[in-house]
Amino acid sequence: MGNPHSENRSEQKVFGKAPLGRRSGRQSRRAALKVMLVFGTRPELIKMLPIIREAGEREDVELITVMTSQHTDLVRSLAKEWAIPVDYDLEVMKHAQSLNDVISRVVGRIDRVLEEERPDVVLVQGDTSSAFGSALAAWQRQIPVGHVEAGLRTASIDSPFPEEANRRLISRIASFHFAPTLSNKNALLAEKVPAQGVFLTGNTVVDSIRHVMGQRRPSKPVASLISSLKGRRIIVLTTHRRESFGSVMCDRLKVLRRYVEERPDISLVFPVHPNPQVKNLARAELSGSDQIHLVEPLDYPDFLHVLAASWVILSDSGGIQEEAPSLGKPLLILRDETERPEAVSCGIARLVGQSAQRLQEELLELDCPKSWATKVGEVENPFGRGNSAARILDILQKRQTVARAVELAAAGTVQ
Ligand code: UDP
Repeated sequence: MGNPHSENRSEQKVFGKAPLGRRSGRQSRRAALKVMLVFGTRPELIKMLPIIREAGEREDVELITVMTSQHTDLVRSLAKEWAIPVDYDLEVMKHAQSLNDVISRVVGRIDRVLEEERPDVVLVQGDTSSAFGSALAAWQRQIPVGHVEAGLRTASIDSPFPEEANRRLISRIASFHFAPTLSNKNALLAEKVPAQGVFLTGNTVVDSIRHVMGQRRPSKPVASLISSLKGRRIIVLTTHRRESFGSVMCDRLKVLRRYVEERPDISLVFPVHPNPQVKNLARAELSGSDQIHLVEPLDYPDFLHVLAASWVILSDSGGIQEEAPSLGKPLLILRDETERPEAVSCGIARLVGQSAQRLQEELLELDCPKSWATKVGEVENPFGRGNSAARILDILQKRQTVARAVELAAAGTVQ
């Protein structure tokens, strides 16, 4: 198990290579609050980053970071780029891994870290197998779980699969539920989650975007791509979800290519997800056009700068539904349903579904000079103000202070 701080060096071999980074000078001092924070994929790390930064600034908080490596390339490069101190890398990724493989490896491996570290609370984010497996392992050890981005729901437990089930199951066993919006909070209360554990905090992605856009310039290649497209209407496309694979994606890409090529002032930028189902179709349907830029997945700051330069975004991603309102950009959601209805109800996004015909109609509507897309800049961001990480840590620290006081009082009474 890759703990660079462990006395027992042989442990590092258990899960293979050493972790990406080291927390310089981390002592095994007992801070007032010991938080274990888990992430396994790029979007989880993007949303955990503000908590990692905020915890680093608080004297009374000791932070242990665990990367499950459910995905490897995207999350590891981001962790490296941001110099995230990774205390444990569980290295669960295997070729052709099944969901059950991932869950069983996460539970088994994080259990040993829990035993060694004994944190006061385990923070998981969102809806991945890493988040659910880690929450389950902590719960079995009776360690309180904090769920960042709690209360998102679709109508069906099967969709998106398996994420909807993961987040519902985490809600059953977590002690702290950090809901990004009021409707997320209400969804939890409607499921009879105890109200004293449910907190409205906003979404940490807003903190992340503010930090990144304020601190980071685009890399040279991306800056020159953006400047070469100056004055053009830029469409940014991302697609990677299972429901989009096969004929759904193929038909969408055909519609999109036709739409772009019929309008010489439009350019399409498509950071192509590494999944072969996406890569192969993107190459087959979109290559060979001067107006279409197929690029490798971009670093997060680069990606945000590309989004900020866009005219409209098309995506089946979950996280981008929060980023579009944070950047004031219109979004066509390439899904049948969304667990983030706020982006649609505030008027920044439209749900297109799987039909390529519907996509074509939506694209044509964007051409109207007074289309809905021209008004999105005036909309208030429904996902918060960028102070979510501080609120989450405030809540945990306050609870910890109260719990310690109760413990001390009880000990005093017994004596
Ligand atoms: N993203 C990125 N580079 C890219 C494409 C996406 O950094 O080239 C970011 C994006 O801003 C969002 C996250 O990755 O925060 C979304 O990840 P993904 O679409 O894989 O997952 P989802 O949001 O659907 O869970």
